[in-house]
Amino acid sequence: MKRPSAVRRCADCGELLGRGYPECSSCVGVLEGLWLADWHVLCEVRDVDTVAARRALAEHVLAAAVGVYEWTCVDVAMSLVECPSCARELGTGPLGCVLCGIAEETRWAWYHEAPEGAINSNEYALRRARVALRAPHRYRETVLLNWRLTLPFLLAGQMTDGRPAQWRTAYLRAGRYEELASALSYHQLMAIRELPWR
Ligand SMILES: [Zn+2]
Ligand SMILES: [Zn+2]
Repeated sequence: MKRPSAVRRCADCGELLGRGYPECSSCVGVLEGLWLADWHVLCEVRDVDTVAARRALAEHVLAAAVGVYEWTCVDVAMSLVECPSCARELGTGPLGCVLCGIAEETRWAWYHEAPEGAINSNEYALRRARVALRAPHRYRETVLLNWRLTLPFLLAGQMTDGRPAQWRTAYLRAGRYEELASALSYHQLMAIRELPWR
């Protein structure tokens, strides 16, 4: 995956690059570019160049066994296919949509069933961030804030583990997002943490 080499500020939305996802087109471009690079290679290999053919390829990818296609291609395929039940992008419907629920379960089965090394923990975190931010109604507010906060650091490869650390969740619950968001690197973010026993 080709990614920004450092944490930068987005010229369009003024946030650290990635935090404007999915509203800011520049932030979207940088994040989605990681996924689309793999998808475009697949389309080229399959000689797919029309909208209808891309959709057919997306359905084929989703029907294949876990691990056959890159996880990035599975994600792009899901965003090209409409849920037959709720008509939203597959996996992003209301929590009550059973078909979106099944699609999400299948997406995450990738992590456990794909060949070892097919996805590293940084990529797994980026994947979770993208999924949550595309379907915010399916997640808790602190989870969404944690992904927004950490996305620029994940993109630049400064963080390898995106799991919401308990201390960050405590800060977010206390309404201190802006304070955490002022950090310009993962190192600075970690330095904000106050320890109750000090
Ligand atoms: Zn932006
Ligand atoms: Zn649905």
